[in-house]
Amino acid sequence: MKNILIIFTGGTISMKRDKNINASVPSMCGKDILDLIPNVDNIANIHCMDFSTIPSPHITPEKMLELSKMISEKAKVYDGIVVTHGTDSLEETAYLVDLTCNTSNPVIFTGAMKSSSELGWDGAANLVTAVLTAASESAKNKGVLVIMNGEIHCAAQVTKTNTHSLDTFKSLDFGPIGFVDNNKPYFYFDYSKSEYISVSKIESGVSLIKCACGMDYKLIKFCVDSGTKGIVIEGMGSGNIPPGMLPGIDYAINRNIPIILVSRCITGKVSDSYGYKGGGKDLTNRGVILGGNLNGQKARIKLMAALGFTNDLCEIKKIFKQNYYK
Ligand code: ASP
Repeated sequence: MKNILIIFTGGTISMKRDKNINASVPSMCGKDILDLIPNVDNIANIHCMDFSTIPSPHITPEKMLELSKMISEKAKVYDGIVVTHGTDSLEETAYLVDLTCNTSNPVIFTGAMKSSSELGWDGAANLVTAVLTAASESAKNKGVLVIMNGEIHCAAQVTKTNTHSLDTFKSLDFGPIGFVDNNKPYFYFDYSKSEYISVSKIESGVSLIKCACGMDYKLIKFCVDSGTKGIVIEGMGSGNIPPGMLPGIDYAINRNIPIILVSRCITGKVSDSYGYKGGGKDLTNRGVILGGNLNGQKARIKLMAALGFTNDLCEIKKIFKQNYYK
């Protein structure tokens, strides 16, 4: 049997309803969760580690990197790693680990949308499915995977799309890369990870700004003046912004603050196809870096990792050229 390490970080999978406040709070450590899923050790030799018991909005970039370093070490010893995580920020931690951890062994993130006090707790099914996949040869060399609701997604593409549905995790551009049926993972296509950033530290001071009609430069200038080290802008459409924001763009780039442009559209990549003031071409001419098809929160994670590696804008541009499409 394979040796699988489950690292518990918290999230709804570890929560119970507190009757006094009538709301869910973290209550269970890893062993408590495994006690609710008695058959999981028929699949593999399970080892368990409590990293934290926090709801996922409490996780910080520094904690994410600490987790990534731990996974890199443990992946040398175990055949596969499963990480349980709150679903709210699961996509961010999973992507940071995907970017910064270079193991060929399966690393699977999972969680739950319902707490164990609710009817239909999905934690058991998700955890069993994740362990099955972590123990499978076919999940090797695929980077970090996210498994929820029987679907297998790559960490770089998956996002939480619904606040309460069990069917919330979606890879909106090309769908899940596989699924688990009858206790076996299947992959639709041969997919290999294309991004890696070698970092020992992370720069957490990165701002994320969403564009809307009529916005001006003040928010960008405020971020720069408050010491931000990088900015991700969720532009409109294929990567265009209101012209009133342009003085802020120039202000940041003149101070060597990288600006990554992504789209507030839920699918598709950004491009420099528009040449008008504030269009993608105008922005790249000013030194803005295109962020591919990443959403804002993932582009921010990538910029935090990139800035942990280099401050050089040309190097950061090269890092953002590593994409999931050829
Ligand atoms: N708010 C919870 C968290 O992210 C939700 C969840 O775990 O799904 O920790």
